[in-house]
Amino acid sequence: MNEHTLSLRLERVAANVPAGARLADIGSDHGYLPVALMRRGLITAAVAGEVATTPFHAAQRTVRDNGLEQQITVRQADGLAAIEPHDGITAISVCGMGGETIRDILESGKRHLSGQERLVLQPNGGEQPLRQWLMDNGYSILHEELLRENRFYYEIIVAERIGPVAYTAEQLYFGPLQLQARSPVFIAKWQRLLLQKRKTLASLAHARQTVPEEKVEEIARQIGWMTQLLA
Ligand code: SAM
Repeated sequence: MNEHTLSLRLERVAANVPAGARLADIGSDHGYLPVALMRRGLITAAVAGEVATTPFHAAQRTVRDNGLEQQITVRQADGLAAIEPHDGITAISVCGMGGETIRDILESGKRHLSGQERLVLQPNGGEQPLRQWLMDNGYSILHEELLRENRFYYEIIVAERIGPVAYTAEQLYFGPLQLQARSPVFIAKWQRLLLQKRKTLASLAHARQTVPEEKVEEIARQIGWMTQLLA
């Protein structure tokens, strides 16, 4: 993967960034996403935010090698602190991290959000707590994608703050739009997870230490939802 050829996962993220956006890519690593979008003429400006020094330098290098220093600003910052009011950001991508980490980045950086931005999120697991945060903060899920690459499943969640929305516990768990669409890849993902959850529950039953009752109940509830879904 590089700034010319994105992975399928980042290619699908790219497809969900609105044309002409001013993008903040948080946790940009090498900066491949904003650089690829800018090279294709699909965005007008970008901020690449990185908290860690090595990827921050890598992003600077990618931007410099492509002669895009005027259009893409690389900042070393924690989460949304990379965004400054004068950037006029209209879309924010946070990709390739756990859902809980993305939720924490959004929660701790709330003051940097105008509420007008489109969020394009690609969590690696932890989708449920991330959807919970979106709902609790007035974001509606406009689009969801699920894809498989190199034997891993990846979700993309696109959300905008367009008013209060109420999702059920099952919708938060499976994804409200994915639950509706029930695509073959969605069914395959949950078939695999059902087997894993059943194994987890069985091993908890044999565990020597006492496992909190709520944890066992939660897993049993999830297995019930999955069984119903796949029936
Ligand atoms: N977004 C790229 C992608 O999807 O391919 C890179 C994903 S990489 C696995 C995660 C990156 O997020 C790392 O470079 C890490 O340093 C950065 N990161 C983690 N927490 C961060 C935070 N709070 N603020 C900014 N960057 C962060």
